[in-house]
This record gives sequence, structure tokens and C-alpha cells, in this order.
Amino acid sequence: MEKLSKICLAALILKQARCCTTEAGQKKRAALHVVRGAAALAAHDPGGLDVLSADAAVFVATLRRENRTLKRGLTDPRLFDGIGNAYSDEILHAARLSPVQLTSRLSDAEAERLFRAAQATLTRWMDELARRFAAKFPGPGDITAFRSEFAVHGRYGKPCLDCGDTVQRIRYAENETNYCPTCQTEGRVLADRSLSRLLKDDWPREARGVVPD
Ligand SMILES: [Zn+2]
Repeated sequence: MEKLSKICLAALILKQARCCTTEAGQKKRAALHVVRGAAALAAHDPGGLDVLSADAAVFVATLRRENRTLKRGLTDPRLFDGIGNAYSDEILHAARLSPVQLTSRLSDAEAERLFRAAQATLTRWMDELARRFAAKFPGPGDITAFRSEFAVHGRYGKPCLDCGDTVQRIRYAENETNYCPTCQTEGRVLADRSLSRLLKDDWPREARGVVPD
């Protein structure tokens, strides 16, 4: 058997290719489960809504089920399927909404705009990445949460691609949310540390307890 790289945790060895699973994060939170049958697999599904096949009414009702920040709501896998830190930043920027706006304060028009932005952003990137890797299997450096064409995510201190204002951030634990003041918060720069403190109960669950009091 051929030798696998040290960072390979599990490998699927197929006829013409080898798919290696790695965990690049410092926290080592990834897990692999082997299950048998659809029911056993379903037990691993947190139940989030598939935004691409949902209609606006269901999306908005799901978003309003709990009162929390838009950032937290969008990235909760129990509410929505497959929206992580990077794409939630891009969706909120496309919708021209603040990451810390509360779902209870969202108008119907804003909620509808967020739905359209979520569908458009996810569709755009699914198509783009499928096109990019149609003829080339993703290699080192291709699997990343940072893409140079992102409007705000991973662009702290750099110009917003739409308006040129400087992209800002709110840090919590090892994550950060990026946003553009001009496009999303009526020009306001949100206080980083105090906001983390104020909203610490509304950050993603795994980050709780590590935000400074
Ligand atoms: Zn902007």
C-alpha cells in the first residue's frame, strides 16, 4: 500500500484517485463517523433549512424562530444548512445588513432582501467553484475559507470591493466577522471588544466562555 501523508487522517482509495481527509485547524474539532443506513445518517443532521430550495416565507419564518443576531442566526446549522463564517459575511454584505442586527428588528423588506442575497451568494459561489474545479481536483491551497473575490470576508483593513471603504471586524474567540461600514452599518464602526462582551451569549456556541468578560 502506498504511503500516505502524515496529515492524512482517513483516506478513500479509489481506482483513479485518492481522497485524503485532513484537519488543518488548531482546535482539531473535526470528527469522522461511520454509520450504516439512512436512519443512522439522519441522526447526524442538525436539521437546518436548505436555503436554495426554500421559499422566502419559510426562510423568514426560520430566521425569526429565535431572536438573535443575523450572524448567529445564519450560521446556526439547526436553522440553516451549510452557511459558515465566510459565506454569512458575504451574504450579509450582499444584503446590506449589519451582522449584529437582531432578527426581531428585521423588517419584512430586509428579511426578503436577506433571503435573495443568501440564494444569490450561495448560487454564485457553488457555480464558480464547480466551474473552477471542473477539470482540476482541488489541491493544497484550493480548500480555503478565503477567496480573493470575496467582498468583505477575510478583508479586514482592506477596501470593500463595492464601495472602497475599509473593511472592519468583530473578533470573538478564534473567529472574526468582517463587514463594511458604508454598505452595512450606515457608516458606523462597531466597537470590537465591547460588542463581543455585550453579545457574548449570542456568539456561536463553541466560542462561549472564551470571550473576555
Ligand atoms: Zn462597502
